[in-house]
Amino acid sequence: MAGMDVSEVAEMLFKGFTYYECREVVEAAADYKLSRLMVTREKAAFLGRLATRRGLHVAVSDFDVHEGDIPEGKGAWINTGKRAPAGAGLCFIYLGRRRSAVELAHDSDARGEEPYLLGELFRIPECCTDFYCKHAELARSVYDNDYAELITAATRASGPFPWVNNYLAQYFGHSLIHHFPCTWNCRASVERAEDSLGLISEISPSWADLTRRMSTGTVFHSGREGVHIIRGWTVSSGSPYRADQVVSTTYGAFSALLKKNSGNLPIGALRSTSGMIITPLEFSSCVEE
Ligand SMILES: [Zn+2]
Repeated sequence: MAGMDVSEVAEMLFKGFTYYECREVVEAAADYKLSRLMVTREKAAFLGRLATRRGLHVAVSDFDVHEGDIPEGKGAWINTGKRAPAGAGLCFIYLGRRRSAVELAHDSDARGEEPYLLGELFRIPECCTDFYCKHAELARSVYDNDYAELITAATRASGPFPWVNNYLAQYFGHSLIHHFPCTWNCRASVERAEDSLGLISEISPSWADLTRRMSTGTVFHSGREGVHIIRGWTVSSGSPYRADQVVSTTYGAFSALLKKNSGNLPIGALRSTSGMIITPLEFSSCVEE
């Protein structure tokens, strides 16, 4: 299989792509699935050249997506983007080994929401597509199109959860899955993520190890006050953490609280400044199954 090699991943990183974007391209190159990235037209042109060199089929959306009117507190990430004429924002680029699948995804996106068709092409577990469709309206109207709170509500266990399902690490540039899992311990998502881990591991074991280190720890999703992670630390470990383990997409009152309380987290009292109760989500590499 003419997959990617480590020098091409390095070339992408040098051009400003994130690790999860590189992972998406690796998956398409390995014919594991069809991949879709939201990038600038300049990056799409670069990626198109790289992918064509590897015999991949490529299509670029005729429309753009530009940032919504709401500041989401997630750094450069956009969940609430709106469609706009080409040139107004970021475009979608579709990559895959099969031309028909690339064209199908491109045309489906142009028509509008067809989550089951795209879910199949992107290899999203059906249980998670069901969950996505069932909650789409609520996610849009209440949660800026992020499903973290809804996933927490649907998860019966309190954690720790398998680190491979921590899609929230994407806000810090890493992730093994690009979809919202239906629960934090969704088995189908774990299997899907482990396939991805295997693919990037074949290219670089240290990349796989970096993804694990960036995805394990305790995550706080505080709505528009950002996403925060205490890397490599779990509440249940009982040991203190250091302020330098706290990484946030947005620095404000909540990130200051996490840093100030290092070593001694007042879990029961965690609230965002808007009064929202924040549940710590523990992602660990040693979860009992
Ligand atoms: Zn699921």
